[in-house]
Amino acid sequence: MKVVVAGALGRMGGAVCHAVDAADDLALAGGFDRIRAGEELARVHGLAKPSGKLYDDITDLYDATTPDVVVDFTVYPVTVDVAREAVERRISPVIGATGWTDEDVVSFESMCDEYSVGAALVPNFAIGAVLAMRFSEIAARFFPTAEIVELHHDRKIDAPSGTAKLTARRIAAASGRPEVPIHSVRLRGLVAHQESLFGGDGETLTIRHDSLDRSSFMAGVLLAIRNVRNQTKLTIGLDSYLGDLS
Ligand code: NAD
Repeated sequence: MKVVVAGALGRMGGAVCHAVDAADDLALAGGFDRIRAGEELARVHGLAKPSGKLYDDITDLYDATTPDVVVDFTVYPVTVDVAREAVERRISPVIGATGWTDEDVVSFESMCDEYSVGAALVPNFAIGAVLAMRFSEIAARFFPTAEIVELHHDRKIDAPSGTAKLTARRIAAASGRPEVPIHSVRLRGLVAHQESLFGGDGETLTIRHDSLDRSSFMAGVLLAIRNVRNQTKLTIGLDSYLGDLS
């Protein structure tokens, strides 16, 4: 399967380039970023296999490489253009960049339906974070109050995080409450952490997940790359790729 990476020079994009390079069943065919167009991706990142070039225009990258999947770790709003242009060409996007609005998601969902193209929008690729979200949904049914604290490194631009917003939506939907408050902490030294706090009579329950390193996201990214083309629509989150979580 031929894969390209958008945001290939970023912290996450670079880690994805290494993960795809190390996977025997995947071929990295090129990357998209703002700078260093024309340079060999393998040389830039010290990859083992030939991996195509860097492009500063997403259309040129798609034309030159005709990939099966684009993994997107740019930033909002360019992530939306990367994904929409992919679907027009029947390339499946695996989108990790956060900051998408509800309107962006709704419009993109109908575009994927129209083209019958599988796409994955995954606010958090860490398996533990996906499980923590599912456990929070279950706990929500049994505790009358719930709040979320999300804590990230001080270079994270968006707040609250995409994971916190999705967790809040799922807790609200599971329990019928209108809203779940989210508290955001941005602090040097942190990576990505989240607590779902539940309160009942005389007891509390805390469901906490910690991503300690970017490598925590790579198993989920590879899982989505390998499965996204089996879909014909947009899936949000990694749950549907993990089997039965009921
Ligand atoms: P980063 O700033 O290190 O990387 C972003 C890259 O995108 C940079 O290389 C930048 O040059 C490139 N870029 C920005 N604008 C561009 C444009 N107009 N054209 C081409 N390239 C452009 O950021 P990061 O820490 O790698 O995070 C990237 C995104 O991934 C953020 O939205 C972050 O919130 C999200 N993220 C998601 C997960 C997840 O599990 N889904 C995990 C970590 C981070």
